[in-house]
Amino acid sequence: MGKFVVGIIGGACAGSEIASTLADLGMEVVVFEQNPLPYGKIEDGLPRWHRKLQARERKNIDSKLDRPEIHFVPSCKIGESVSVEDLDKEWNFAMVVMANGAWRDRALRVPDTDRVTDDSLVYQNKLVYWFNHYHERNFDGHRYTIPKDPVIIGGGLASIDMAKICQFEMFNAAVVERGLEPVDVETLEHRGVRKAAENLGLDYDDLGIRPARLFYRKRVIDMPLVPLGDAPDPVKVEKAKAIRQKIIKNSTTKYGFEVIEFHSPASLRFEGNTVTGVTFDLCYWDDGFKKTGEQETVDTSMVISSIGSVPQPIEGIPMDGELYQWDETFTGAVTGLRNFYCVGNAITGRGNIKDSAANARRLGAVVTAGITEEELIYEKWFRAQEEEAREHVEKMITFLQQMPDTSDAQRQKIQELTQKHWESIGYTGYAAWRDAILAKR
Ligand SMILES: Cc1cc2nc3c(=O)[nH]c(=O)nc-3n(C[C@H](O)[C@H](O)[C@H](O)COP(=O)(O)OP(=O)(O)OC[C@H]3O[C@@H](n4cnc5c(N)ncnc54)[C@H](O)[C@@H]3O)c2cc1C
Repeated sequence: MGKFVVGIIGGACAGSEIASTLADLGMEVVVFEQNPLPYGKIEDGLPRWHRKLQARERKNIDSKLDRPEIHFVPSCKIGESVSVEDLDKEWNFAMVVMANGAWRDRALRVPDTDRVTDDSLVYQNKLVYWFNHYHERNFDGHRYTIPKDPVIIGGGLASIDMAKICQFEMFNAAVVERGLEPVDVETLEHRGVRKAAENLGLDYDDLGIRPARLFYRKRVIDMPLVPLGDAPDPVKVEKAKAIRQKIIKNSTTKYGFEVIEFHSPASLRFEGNTVTGVTFDLCYWDDGFKKTGEQETVDTSMVISSIGSVPQPIEGIPMDGELYQWDETFTGAVTGLRNFYCVGNAITGRGNIKDSAANARRLGAVVTAGITEEELIYEKWFRAQEEEAREHVEKMITFLQQMPDTSDAQRQKIQELTQKHWESIGYTGYAAWRDAILAKR
């Protein structure tokens, strides 16, 4: 094996796994991370009631990145702090691996969304970021207030998290109104809202909390909570439908939100630039989903769009619709860039299964790994993601073997560029940096 220096964009699940696998093979790796810390969806996507899991996953990433062969470059957004062109020409890595995940919410496809200038239409990624961090001492991001009548548009697993966030926020607002201390979200998640109210000597039904409404264009049995693979047999299909119903029944009972089927968003109702309602096309099932021709408008002061995440466009990386453009799905080689490769959610988008059979199978396996009959087990999901990343390294090695070694002069250049960035932010080492960032929270 030759001696290479590899650049990785993104230091979370996929990025850290690839970095440590390459380091095990004797390579030097530079990991660029846009945030101060490398935890990606673990800290900004997984809602914070998964506190213990988050702590375990952070440790897991730390153990992979905190080693001498890996140079962690935090607070460095590729496309902004360093351009793709510079990464390609100046840093000149033997290979660049794009493990930057899926951070752009898919746009809600109804007219006039760009008119909205306030929080009457919000998207999932920003909302989870706020929810996960607003209690921190140094939080200076946008603050949301969940109103009493939120509407969620979605149907996937993340939309259920949105409904739970709404319920917990409304619960604590009602509790605080009664002069009590808010209940921590782990207790709310674990016990459910009725038991949590009981613990406070309250009756949940007296709190005046209206259920958050999650609108889905299909049926609960069609929700993308349990994948069916490429050619599901009828028994598997029926089993998956039953599991979907069970998951929804359990969570609506425990947390008090509602799921409303057969509603496809058609338009927004406005007062000025503020959304005051959503009009849905009503649908039905007749060997496929069809519109009845009728519509229903529901009042709301906050619409939360949770219809999936796709990769963020990066200047210099070609796009094919919502995804990066790659030459072939096997390696994820980015079109027109000599040595850039996509892995993880950067290649598929999250919850956005590309119609290539190979990718559908790949993603299917990842999703299946995380589901039990009762709930989603995120931990298994993260492990499956790592496994995928490791498998990807094998494909990369095939590519790298054809490359010349990184020269000493280039290695030196990469070290100088890395050092320059470190000095600009006061970075002196992985653990010290991480601890300093966490201490400010
Ligand atoms: C609520 C929820 C729902 C999920 N749903 C799905 C699903 O439907 N399908 C599925 O396959 N998996 C899903 N997962 C699983 C999860 O997304 C993956 O298991 C895993 O977190 C993805 O890891 P990653 O490293 O590819 O991406 P991420 O965890 O997103 O990590 C990417 C990293 O790259 C960084 N980055 C991004 N852009 C740049 C840039 N320009 N420069 C530098 N750094 C950058 C980010 O800050 C981040 O740290 C879900 C997870 C959660 C929490």
